Amino acid sequence: MVTSNSAWETIIGLEIHAQLSTDTKIFCACSTQTGCEPNANTCPVCLGLPGALPVLNTRAVELAARAALALGLKINERSVFARKNYFYPDLPKGYQISQYDEPFSEHGELTIMTATRDEAGHARDWQPKRIGITRLHLEEDAGKNMHEPQGSAATGDDNNYSYVDLNRAGTPLAEIVTEPDFRSSWEAYDYVNHVRRALQWVDASDADMEKGNLRCEANVSVRRKGATEFGTKVELKNLNSVRFMQRAIDYEVERHIKLIEAGGRIVQQTLLWDERTNTTRPMRSKEEAHDYRYFPEPDLQPLIVSPEFIEATRHAMPELPDARRDRFMRDYELSFNDASQLTAELALADYYERAARSSNNPRAAANWVRGDLARELETRNLNIAQSPVSAEHLAALITAIDTNRINGKQAKDVLPLMMTGGVTVDEIIKSRGLEQVSDTGEIERIIIETIAANPKQFEQYKAGKEALFGFFVGAVIKQSQGKANPKLVNEMLRAKLAE
Ligand SMILES: [Zn+2]
Repeated sequence: MVTSNSAWETIIGLEIHAQLSTDTKIFCACSTQTGCEPNANTCPVCLGLPGALPVLNTRAVELAARAALALGLKINERSVFARKNYFYPDLPKGYQISQYDEPFSEHGELTIMTATRDEAGHARDWQPKRIGITRLHLEEDAGKNMHEPQGSAATGDDNNYSYVDLNRAGTPLAEIVTEPDFRSSWEAYDYVNHVRRALQWVDASDADMEKGNLRCEANVSVRRKGATEFGTKVELKNLNSVRFMQRAIDYEVERHIKLIEAGGRIVQQTLLWDERTNTTRPMRSKEEAHDYRYFPEPDLQPLIVSPEFIEATRHAMPELPDARRDRFMRDYELSFNDASQLTAELALADYYERAARSSNNPRAAANWVRGDLARELETRNLNIAQSPVSAEHLAALITAIDTNRINGKQAKDVLPLMMTGGVTVDEIIKSRGLEQVSDTGEIERIIIETIAANPKQFEQYKAGKEALFGFFVGAVIKQSQGKANPKLVNEMLRAKLAE
């Protein structure tokens, strides 16, 4: 790890490619479904056959607008598609349709919450930080090349073949580029999580890094503290999770500092993160391209987005995650950490809010959703949307405690029984005979019995040994076989012992 008191400053900029969740590709009607036979989802447009013309998918524009609005970015009324020219086998047209000098959105700014991490990686001291967003633009994805590993030729001869699958070619992407505003790998980590959550929240993208529908590249350099010039940067690719990205950045920062301090020089290059060795290695140079010779795409009109379209899109979106987090803190008096956790995803926030309202006990609902329910779901490998216990049923459990029908300890045993699904709190309480004794006559009878059975302790208590109060509470509850309402036992016992 790089120490915080180091004489060096880290400079990071990020590029995110998020696949927009359309059913069809951005310039043709081919399916975006994954897992199909190679090249099954192709047509003359995405194969780049001569004479085929692209037609812009309105849904891709809608989702790009959702993405931009979810990140608080302004959308340009006019943007222009451009050809980015380079040669690679997974790009049959010889150019990628992207946007260049007139992108969908530019000069934006985003406020994220970011924290430092202790040795164990726990976040502490969350602070807001503004990140400049250079641009968000629409573009198409390329296909995929697959190379047979040495010595594994499937064809039976001694050659190793490479294959091209164009199912992914033409899938719509939103590319989001930041200014070099990050000063630590954790800031970058918190930013990517912020973006992922925002995109998932508004259904713009699945934003799953492991599945490759959110890809991230980091530009990393270091400079001595106080310097104004940037150091030489490297570009990090192949970052399959936010954690890998964070580690890769730390690895590079440390490598840069060591190298420069030893009198060496950083070479500007593209590096791949190798998650098996926890190191970076240079990308083969032929995989890099430099001069893209952008020019406006002659087959597509400029994209005009009306203010009405933007308003309609905004109107169709749910309350955004940060606004909802702040409202949870305000309306339900939750801490920043609790409110952040409960707005990690839309389904969770919805579930929590239904449980909070239905139980009229937001504090308890937060504890149950984050605690016992989360654990029960985790052991069953379920997410919140798959919970066999509905928010209303969880609320009923909370109400059963709040009305003294069962105590908190009993409730913890009831929840796992509810997880099998289809049973209500009432049914479990009745069938298990869990109902608490809140009958004051019954409790008083047990109290009198208990005192009579423990004359020595009673005497000591009366003589001033008040610590014995707990002994009596325990004895009464035990005598009731755990069913006496502890609150009532406390009150009544105190009164009885004071007589
Ligand atoms: Zn197609």
